[in-house]
Amino acid sequence: MVRDQIAARGVKDLVVLAAMIKVDRLLFVPDDMRDMAYADSPLPIGYGQTISQPYIVAYMTEQASLGKDERVLEIGTGSGYQTAILGEIVREVYSIEVNRSLAEQASRKLEVLGYENVKVKYGDGYGGWPGQAPFDAIIITAAPPVIPEELLDQLKEGGRMIVPAGTTHQEIYRVTKLVEGYKKEELIAVRFVPMVRYADKLSAKGERHEE
Ligand code: SAH
Repeated sequence: MVRDQIAARGVKDLVVLAAMIKVDRLLFVPDDMRDMAYADSPLPIGYGQTISQPYIVAYMTEQASLGKDERVLEIGTGSGYQTAILGEIVREVYSIEVNRSLAEQASRKLEVLGYENVKVKYGDGYGGWPGQAPFDAIIITAAPPVIPEELLDQLKEGGRMIVPAGTTHQEIYRVTKLVEGYKKEELIAVRFVPMVRYADKLSAKGERHEE
């Protein structure tokens, strides 16, 4: 998987490739998908969500240019696969998942696997994690319609956000926080599940938001 789908397509960072070799994707796919664990595609993980394509996980991680002493925020924990990759590379990972069951499952799995430097919380990623901000990098693994300005505030100076933004057409952007303002680079076209707002999610289910 790592040689034929990831290195062959141009991911060069040895730290990223080593993490992709070390973390077994099989551990993060549902039991009935095990024979597809190393396939070059996203896979369903329940609740209408997916574990991302391995190449895209590696690509986004490489584009974040992570250092080993850095602290990273991930939005959209999902299966916890990208979270584990980040946990192999940086000092601390904070990950937010809006689906309570997925958040609990991923949190338990990462704990069992021994990722003591990873914290997962259930909540709406649009709020970020103010108590732990600012971050060296923010990686968003669901697609907001536009780059979420409110999360850029939680980046350090020199910090990078990697985000697939858009609706029918999505592009991955890298936004770097400068001394003044931001540098925005458009990378590649992708397809991610949407980054939903918590209030929208509840109203879609006919529930009331009472917090
Ligand atoms: N990195 C994950 C990708 C999972 S798919 C993996 O490889 O397994 C994207 C995830 O983002 C879904 O689990 C979805 O529930 C979550 N998500 C969507 N909107 C969100 C939001 N506002 N805050 C946090 N998580 C969100």
